[in-house]
Amino acid sequence: MKKNSIVRIGIIGVGHLGKFHVQQYQTIHNVECVGVFDIDIECVDVVSKNYNVKSYDNLDDLLSRCDAVSICTPTSTHYSVAKQALNLGCHVFIEKPITTNIDEAEKLILLSNNNNKLIQVGHIERFNPAFCAFNKENISPEFIESHRLAPFNIRGTDVDVILDLMIHDIDILLQIIKSDIKQINASGVSILSNTIDMANTRIEFANGCVANLTASRISQKQLRKFRIFEKKIYTNIDFLNPCVETYMLSNKQPKKDGAYIVVNETSEKFILYDKPNIVPHNALKVELEAFVKSINDCINPVVSAIDGLAALKVAIQIRDQINLKNN
Ligand code: NAD
Repeated sequence: MKKNSIVRIGIIGVGHLGKFHVQQYQTIHNVECVGVFDIDIECVDVVSKNYNVKSYDNLDDLLSRCDAVSICTPTSTHYSVAKQALNLGCHVFIEKPITTNIDEAEKLILLSNNNNKLIQVGHIERFNPAFCAFNKENISPEFIESHRLAPFNIRGTDVDVILDLMIHDIDILLQIIKSDIKQINASGVSILSNTIDMANTRIEFANGCVANLTASRISQKQLRKFRIFEKKIYTNIDFLNPCVETYMLSNKQPKKDGAYIVVNETSEKFILYDKPNIVPHNALKVELEAFVKSINDCINPVVSAIDGLAALKVAIQIRDQINLKNN
């Protein structure tokens, strides 16, 4: 497409998340929100009225009028819906995780290449203001610890907590650590649903870094923390209340306020504290703007289907290991 041309977009699945896609697309200037489709007629009618957007009762009708679609249906349907959209010549934004299995994701990648259409995957934390403020250059993590906890919600339980929640941290981890995975160990428990509701994994990378990720949907409170430990540096990223804090051991006296002085018997050291200014933004809007930009500029999406597949492969290894232990 030509730079800055209007992209005609449809939204498929307008439940909890899909309606926010409608809302955000309506604020993006070079997007025409063509319409919405959902197998739940009542749900699609409500969204159509609330957002003043046309509803379609036939998916092909909507697809034939669109340059691109957002797929916000349950994960188990991502493959069939995305396949239909790609076959009718649409670029697709697929909510995370890309699909439920590797075979489906690989088939979608092949189809998108053959049809010359883009796939972006909804790993929204890449657009979180805290992650945007975090300086990813020149870091050498030796240990990473993440916690992503949420109260139980029946939505999302068509997949286990690894595909539902931990996949966000897996994607972020793979962005930070550019090294092969050497070993994965995992444990998990199914508590309220029929699948794993709480999971913990220890991932060892070939470069020596170890990541300990925990995800649970059995929690009273929400928590989304990602902690990075390097030699003499500790960084804490809060994805829930976007914030980044860095503590660095130094021999030099800090110039800024907010640093603590450590006195030990042999030498005087300082801890430099840094809290970059976070520019608040709506992560979903920025994510969808990036999708529209990659369509208009014919460039690779920020979160490609290859990225979605990479995160899925790790998630599936974690799940398989837990299932093997538990059965
Ligand atoms: P939801 O159940 O609230 O909504 C899904 C909607 O899809 C429902 O209205 C349902 O009727 C409709 N639907 C089901 N099958 C369909 C089909 N074949 N064609 C058209 N419509 C269909 O679920 P949700 O919480 O909105 O989640 C949807 C997707 O978004 C899931 O893949 C989930 O993992 C993802 N998600 C991502 C994030 C994020 O942080 N990026 C957050 C929540 C959900």
